[in-house]
Amino acid sequence: MTIHRDLNKLAESGQVLKKHGGAVLSSSSGRVQEEASVCAMCRKPVSQRTVFIVKLDNGEELRACCAHCGLMLQSRSQNAWQSLTADYLFGHMISAGQAFYLIGSELNVCCVPSVLVFGSGSDAEKFQKGFGGQIFNMDETLKHLSGMMHMHSGM
Ligand SMILES: [Zn+2]
Ligand SMILES: [Zn+2]
Repeated sequence: MTIHRDLNKLAESGQVLKKHGGAVLSSSSGRVQEEASVCAMCRKPVSQRTVFIVKLDNGEELRACCAHCGLMLQSRSQNAWQSLTADYLFGHMISAGQAFYLIGSELNVCCVPSVLVFGSGSDAEKFQKGFGGQIFNMDETLKHLSGMMHMHSGM
């Protein structure tokens, strides 16, 4: 009991991390799974905040770091049947086909041009007012991204 309390005190002051690495193994082992999940397009670690999941008809799931990579991944996968992505504001999973995409805002969360995804059009507009960019549906976003890949001229 006393030992646990002392360890907690040490952990709070950061000393356990420095002096007794073994004592914090339990908290760091939870991270291994997160780190094992990398983007199928660019190999960046996948963050839950911006994750984009492409489900294939054979039951496999491909994960991308953000909607930017996710949409490219989806257009490459011939047997993709469903895609889900995280709502940037609320963090829950939404259907990629019905989402609103804010492209090229000043909020660079992952890949550039940044693509933020929202479940509601009014949320997307709020972010657009604050950070600029343009709002598209999924098909338009795909065209926009593949266009940018070929010519970097912008406007
Ligand atoms: Zn990626
Ligand atoms: Zn990304």
